[in-house]
Amino acid sequence: MRAVDVIARKRDGEELSPEQIQVFVRAVTDGSWPEYQISALLMAIVLRGMTAEEITALTEAMVHSGVKVDLSHLPGHKVDKHSTGGVGDKTSLILAPLAAACGVVVPMMSGRALGHTGGTLDKLEAIPGFRTGLLLGEFQRMLADVGVSMIGQTAEIAPADKKLYALRDVTSTVESIPLITASIMSKKIAEGIDALVLDVKAGRGAFMKTTAQANLLAQALVQVGNSSGVRTEALLTSMDAPLGRDVGNALEVIESIETLKGRGPRDLEDLSVRLAARMVVLAGLADSEKAETMVRQALTSGAGLEVFRKVIAWQGGDPRVIDDYGRLPTASRRHAVMAPGKGYVSDIDPMKIARAAMRLGAGRDRVEDKIDPAVGVRLRVSLGDRVEPGQPLAELHYNDSGRLFEAAALAAEACTLTAEAPKIAPRVLAEVV
Ligand code: URA
Repeated sequence: MRAVDVIARKRDGEELSPEQIQVFVRAVTDGSWPEYQISALLMAIVLRGMTAEEITALTEAMVHSGVKVDLSHLPGHKVDKHSTGGVGDKTSLILAPLAAACGVVVPMMSGRALGHTGGTLDKLEAIPGFRTGLLLGEFQRMLADVGVSMIGQTAEIAPADKKLYALRDVTSTVESIPLITASIMSKKIAEGIDALVLDVKAGRGAFMKTTAQANLLAQALVQVGNSSGVRTEALLTSMDAPLGRDVGNALEVIESIETLKGRGPRDLEDLSVRLAARMVVLAGLADSEKAETMVRQALTSGAGLEVFRKVIAWQGGDPRVIDDYGRLPTASRRHAVMAPGKGYVSDIDPMKIARAAMRLGAGRDRVEDKIDPAVGVRLRVSLGDRVEPGQPLAELHYNDSGRLFEAAALAAEACTLTAEAPKIAPRVLAEVV
């Protein structure tokens, strides 16, 4: 089968057969198609789309480009969570220990920060000594011992995705529901999970800017998961304001630990509990109502916090950070951004906060960029708060003064004050099952 014929078929809007899709993915993996032909097909997919059957075939071919982890020897259902990425989204650090404390086995493989979105691996690696690069054997042992392990995708997991993502990044072919779906789901299915809860974000701080687009993505993800034998459901959640108050790696670790101690911001606690409860339901451990009670109990009893302490210790990190935040990387300087007048906080633009945190060095523009784990933005207000002139809206934690001016301007612009109290929209917009 010639590459040019497969490209022409998709260019003309026709459906590719599972065999044609397998040939493509094999060629990506073994390097037998040149990058210009792979890119041409990617662009044809962006423009012409794919049917549900094609997306499932693409996902499965990508799973088979590497190994599928076998967790069948572990008793119980293995359930993971995946977020499509947002600003201040640290729910993984909270819900994975909570779900494990309720008896769910959580084999969590996460990604790194890229662009405006944060990454679970970078947050965990802010903890001194924490290893996210466990070998598959260690990962399996840890799941048997602790019930949860939080690592990065190993090289054996969906290698075709790694190559395709790098090409998509430089050929303007990232924004495609079929390609995003196959990319996300191939990596998740390869983890060997039984079920998956997705947090599909919609809004200014998300990949999908509108609820309609996010809904289409959520449906595609759920459909592919279920037809590949992984029970999958999604929550559609708003990313029109940062989640919680902290954006920046060590700062987000502190906020996650505070949340596990029952002292976190309400929006972050509620979303983490809701997602963890869905994991408990999908693991077959309780119905919806009981699951939420179980997760809340794991939070208030401190059982989730104790699981997180074990995770840190098992993965080589310093578990004393739980009781002593001074052991985490700390920025040398602080700068407060003050309210210019009085009023209600009616908007906090997540993109501006993300860009401020990135300017300080908390994120990366390119995969190879280094991050500074200590820096970031700590919001001092939440949506709906009433503030007086000169009251701090945000505190910037920084090490390099050359980066402060622009970051402070962005953080100030991010917050809008109005005379009227705003109506606060709910975080959870819909459930897609
Ligand atoms: N995240 C992924 O893993 N893949 C995409 O294509 C987009 C977001």
